Formats: sequence, structure tokens, C-alpha cells
Amino acid sequence: MAEEETRQCSTCGTQVRVTEKECPYCGLNLETGEAYETRVRKAKQDRDHKVAPLSTVLMLPVIAFALTVFAGYMYQRQAESALDSNKSLVQEYVAQLKKVDTLARFGKVSEARELCQQIIDDVENEASDVESDGDEEDGGATKKSLLLSIQSKAEHKLQKLSE
Ligand SMILES: [Zn+2]
Repeated sequence: MAEEETRQCSTCGTQVRVTEKECPYCGLNLETGEAYETRVRKAKQDRDHKVAPLSTVLMLPVIAFALTVFAGYMYQRQAESALDSNKSLVQEYVAQLKKVDTLARFGKVSEARELCQQIIDDVENEASDVESDGDEEDGGATKKSLLLSIQSKAEHKLQKLSE
């Protein structure tokens, strides 16, 4: 029985049979000279690269969900800012209508009627602005209905002052 040919591993110095592709002690690849750790790292990198597209696919619903949440948040903010502007609009007209009452209480009927007419005109102008802006959806429709209710209140007051 002929003694098997061996070669020395350049890393750990072990005598390894020439038929071995790797050193059984340190894992050195005797053909390429690549250390065991290097090969493990490369294999891991290859696997990670193959996994990447799958994880991207899995990320899509997450991204879609995040976008939906963001769009909803932006819509809500827009609606809130429309509500805020409508609120300050109402407060402004309510203050004017109160002024009409105050004038009437102090017997300044003609001034009260004048202010009433002015409120009606202002509201009409603003309502037609809302229509021409074409933003009747969202805040626009709310604004218009608010303006109309203010207008009817002012008209009611004007009618009472004329009696
Ligand atoms: Zn070795």
C-alpha cells in the first residue's frame, strides 16, 4: 500500500492529503488559497443579496400603507385648516351681527339696518367667490353653507328692524 501524497497547509502547517480540497483543520481552501472565514463571509453575502429583492417585495405593502397614512394625515390637516378658516369667518360675522343688535338696542335703527345690509352684501360676495374658486368640495361646501346661514340670520334681523 503506497503512502499517500501529502502537502502542507500554508496556514496551519498540517500535512493534508493532496486529494483534499480543504485543510480539515483550519478550513483553508487548498486550491484557491481562500481562508474558511472568507468563504463563509462570501456565502453569507451571496445569500443576503438573493434575499434583498424578496425583502423589497415585502416592503411594498408597508410603503403603500405608510403613504396612505401620510395622505390621510395631509387630508385631515387640510380639512382642519379649512375648518379653522371657517371658524374665524363665522366669528367675524357673529361679531358683526352682535353689533347690529347693540345698535338696535340703543335705538340706532338706521345704522343697524345699514350694517345688516352690509353683512348680507359681504356674505353674498364671499359665497360667489367660493363658487368661482370651484372648491365646493371639502371646506368650500362647508364655507358656503356657513355663509348662507349667516346671510339668512342677517336677513331675518333686517326684516325685524324694518317692522
Ligand atoms: Zn490548515
